[in-house]
Amino acid sequence: MTADHDDLDARATAVTRQVVQWRRHLHQHPELSNREVNTAALITDHLKSLSLDEVRTGIAGHGVVGVLKGSQRGERVIALRADTDALPVPDLCGVPFASHVVDRQYPGGPFPVSHACGHDCHTAMLMGAATVLAGVREKLPGTVLFVFQPAEEGPPVGENGGAREMLAQGALDDPAPTMAFGFHVTPYPKGYIGYRVGNQFGASCLVKITLSGQQVHGSTPWMGIDPMPAAGAILTGVGQIYRQISAFDPVTVSIGHVEDVGRFNIIGQTVTLWGTIRCAVESDMGQVQTRLRTLAVHSAQAYNCSATVDFLQDVPAVHNEQSWMDAALPTFQRVAGADRVVPTAATLGYDDVSEFVNRYGGLYVTLGVQDAELGPDGMPTPAAGGRGLFMNHNPHFYADDDTLVTGVRLHAQVAYDHLIGTLVPR
Ligand SMILES: [Zn+2]
Ligand SMILES: [Zn+2]
Repeated sequence: MTADHDDLDARATAVTRQVVQWRRHLHQHPELSNREVNTAALITDHLKSLSLDEVRTGIAGHGVVGVLKGSQRGERVIALRADTDALPVPDLCGVPFASHVVDRQYPGGPFPVSHACGHDCHTAMLMGAATVLAGVREKLPGTVLFVFQPAEEGPPVGENGGAREMLAQGALDDPAPTMAFGFHVTPYPKGYIGYRVGNQFGASCLVKITLSGQQVHGSTPWMGIDPMPAAGAILTGVGQIYRQISAFDPVTVSIGHVEDVGRFNIIGQTVTLWGTIRCAVESDMGQVQTRLRTLAVHSAQAYNCSATVDFLQDVPAVHNEQSWMDAALPTFQRVAGADRVVPTAATLGYDDVSEFVNRYGGLYVTLGVQDAELGPDGMPTPAAGGRGLFMNHNPHFYADDDTLVTGVRLHAQVAYDHLIGTLVPR
């Protein structure tokens, strides 16, 4: 630990009150994917107040990138990434600043809206890190990009958005990062950094299966074609797909939403199934898609209707290279304390931060934010007397304010160590 690291920590502590305020404001005013209008405005106003070299706005919808060029000579460029969007989930986390927002215009809505994935924390922590790093620009040998990414949870079908769209629009082309870094808040003990070498999150895609029959009065099914039994067959058959993939490669196929246009006395023309495929081993994705397409098309045929199958919004796995992790562990341990940096299990969640890490190199880790402790097997359990353990996307998901400063320090120290050349793969 050098005086510069101490200085970064002191500056992070100084900005904590404001980070908590930003986080609470964002939590109370969440916005769905590709609709992050006011969130982007808050970010933009703050970045402009820091006299950065550049603030790029309106990227891939409501993405914002701040560019901070250090005063010292240096070629490295770090991209610190936070996602900014919320979810169509009610807010039952029980805090005074809980969200009561309902989005009535969103496709498929109206939806209750909340930060059930904790992106309010991500956004506030990166805003705080921007304050910290802008305050030490005379010491920085290189450039910091503050990347505020919209639509991580997936834009409405038919719209572009997210990390891939930011890259397609050239958001990080000049100067190109030499490292991308991000982290996600998780139901882990507060202040713990979780890491995994290899695939931390799985490959993902959105599934849309449209079954078409022929609409008819419910009393005369033989006069039309009922697509509903085919939907039932597909839902049942999905449970067998995993047995056609190596049992050593975790795969899930889940249909979370069934949309029909019938009525109790009308056999509808179409049934649409919406779901997701997750593969721990990225190369399995093609085979799982083929099996699901075969199942859908032939089940439809068996019931005299037809199926179209679309695989949309594919996101690559989040993969951490050993060499990057080896380089970063000393920084993580300095930030969290050596005993609070722990390996974590792989999950079949996804995060499109993989688009940045795959292109530029870098890392993605997790930050614990709940009243938890680790059991003998290394898995989190609820701490006695605490608020419990709730997964991301659960209406009860919560994150404690007192962990935000750790996230600010994590961004600042990773950025500084990369720019001075101690955090680089060997
Ligand atoms: Zn999420
Ligand atoms: Zn998330």
